[in-house]
Amino acid sequence: MARVFNFSAGPAALPEEVLKQASEEMLDWQGSGMSVMEMSHRGKAFVSIAEQAEADLRELLNVPSNYKVLFLQGGATGQFAAIPMNLARGKSAADYVVNGSWGKKAVKEAGKYLDDVRIAAQPDSFTVAPTDLNLNPDAAYVHYTPNETIEGVEFHQVPAVGDVPLVADMSSTILSRPIDVSQFGVIYAGAQKNIGPAGLVIVIVRDDLIGEAAPNTPMVLDWAAQAEADSMLNTPPCYSWYICGLVFQWLKRQGGLQGMAEINQRKAQKLYDAIDGSNGFYTNPVDPASRSWMNVPFVLADDSLDAAFLSEAKEAGLETLKGHRSVGGMRASIYNAMPEAGVDALIDFMASFANKHG
Ligand code: PMP
Repeated sequence: MARVFNFSAGPAALPEEVLKQASEEMLDWQGSGMSVMEMSHRGKAFVSIAEQAEADLRELLNVPSNYKVLFLQGGATGQFAAIPMNLARGKSAADYVVNGSWGKKAVKEAGKYLDDVRIAAQPDSFTVAPTDLNLNPDAAYVHYTPNETIEGVEFHQVPAVGDVPLVADMSSTILSRPIDVSQFGVIYAGAQKNIGPAGLVIVIVRDDLIGEAAPNTPMVLDWAAQAEADSMLNTPPCYSWYICGLVFQWLKRQGGLQGMAEINQRKAQKLYDAIDGSNGFYTNPVDPASRSWMNVPFVLADDSLDAAFLSEAKEAGLETLKGHRSVGGMRASIYNAMPEAGVDALIDFMASFANKHG
């Protein structure tokens, strides 16, 4: 068996240790005689798996006790609707900071439920995390995307929004470094990048922001109803939840988020250095202060070499480097589970490819 270095943006690589543990437990989870996939979500065994996963996530992110942690379905996209439905609380306006493609989608969805979705900032080209925000004190909330997965634009500090609840789509950056949860009203993230398998979205929400969902909110999107039911209002994505729990335990063994942050920053820095040092053979358009630690897009100066780049990379065991169809070029997603050796292998490959074709 030969595993490749998989640079997919999501679903993305998972830690090999986690996959091995899951395979060992596949037929018989800890003497239960059944797979986690086959367990009742109401049974003791699965409830213990679910509770441990939540406890470990709370520990990793240092989640204060006045926040609920929900394990839901419908992806981050489901939350694009859940946010206005739960948070409008009688108001009709919200502010959105748009620094890339996902923020734009969040705006479009919110527009179905709110009369007044205002753009607090939207740079002409998505190559910088905007700092000059046009915020309104009467907004129900401010929404932003700390890391834009397609454009590779990341906020390296949390924007100041005063007393208005800040809502963050952390799908492609959660768990990449320590954060101060108390700065946010709501944090949400699809699992399939830095948390676990697809099928699950995590929502971390401050207590005072739940309980006033619009009356027509589907109950599976109602945070108060889900919190009340421990995220088991209906059958949850049990197997994904279990794998997320294994990832949280793996993260704890890596030294938690401080340890991950050091590795992630180093991985990203060396890849950007390789791009910047390639004499223009490769370029990344993002303002250096807003470059993502997780998603590194780059283009070849001669795009007629793109197909050769991808096929030679594949031969070298480096997969899924094609950029998003909307922007083209290449993208290396280097989430927590991408070992530093994978980034080193990519850098070596890029140098030899440039040498050969430059
Ligand atoms: N937000 C961001 C920042 C994302 O990267 C993605 C997925 N690529 C989404 C939202 C949508 O997530 P999902 O597919 O879980 O709905």
